Amino acid sequence: MKTKTLEETETETNESYTITSTINKQINKFMTPPCDLLTWRDMPSHLKFNPYVHTGYRPLQNVKGCINSLFYMHNETINILTHGIPIVYILATVPPYLPWNNSLRFLSWCHLVGSVSPWIGSFVYHLFMNLERGETVYYRLLQLDMFGIWMSQSFGALPFVIASVFCMSGFIKWLTIISYCIFCIFGLQKALTAASPWQRRLCFALPFLMRAILTILRLSKFAGGNPTAMTHVFLQDGVSIFGGAIGAMHIPEKWFPGCLDYYLNSHNIMHVLVVVAVYSMHQATVRDIDWMESMSTSKCGAISNQTIDIPLLSNLTSDSHFEL
Ligand SMILES: [Zn+2]
Repeated sequence: MKTKTLEETETETNESYTITSTINKQINKFMTPPCDLLTWRDMPSHLKFNPYVHTGYRPLQNVKGCINSLFYMHNETINILTHGIPIVYILATVPPYLPWNNSLRFLSWCHLVGSVSPWIGSFVYHLFMNLERGETVYYRLLQLDMFGIWMSQSFGALPFVIASVFCMSGFIKWLTIISYCIFCIFGLQKALTAASPWQRRLCFALPFLMRAILTILRLSKFAGGNPTAMTHVFLQDGVSIFGGAIGAMHIPEKWFPGCLDYYLNSHNIMHVLVVVAVYSMHQATVRDIDWMESMSTSKCGAISNQTIDIPLLSNLTSDSHFEL
């Protein structure tokens, strides 16, 4: 085997040093905000939504300028990255976990669309919010952001709702599913016309309430769904409500005004928490879809008869609680 000469080793070391140095320079360049960024006072009123973030605002720009802002640090960079990266990650990793060749294909689509939509809406909103086209375009982008969240709350939650009523009688099953869809449509109409952050959050109250009732029914064994999904069922709504509350209250930058302009402000934290919430939604949904795949209607019927025959028998198998 040929041994490297001293000269070859030195050349390799120099090359690797040059590469590392170039990477460091690029990172430093990215991390150093350009000097033409503006302060809160300089911004038009529709972009003054957080008085505790004082600096790092991009000036009003055209589409090219907004896209170029992906390559330097400003006070929306973390918001853009935290919801831009999940788009690529989800599209690359989620589809293999889902069944695409049977009657549950529709629910697989619901889950994929529901998992990826909030990030697309949010990414576009945060990237182009400083577009020089004025307040009207800004509110259109905000509506797109809300629409992405709505897709997650409606289509994304359908597998949970359908798994919960999977073994119930036809009438109750369809009444529940149709009611959930009506609540979602009502929520969308409210979300697109809401005037404040709190109003926007409250638009999702009715579908949330219905999911809460179904969760209680699942706990009390009156509804279906995979029992191993329950931790994630709680986390998917609990974490996003916590994130939403932090975002609306401007905590922690309210306590350190001007110190968390670029990192760790409430919107950054909320963004990370909602990604965690959708991860839990994914875990719960994959388990529920898997459960529905294994639970044929006839199996539901068999369990139903068994349960009616011996209603006080508490040591039912993990499967048998799905139908009463
Ligand atoms: Zn956001």
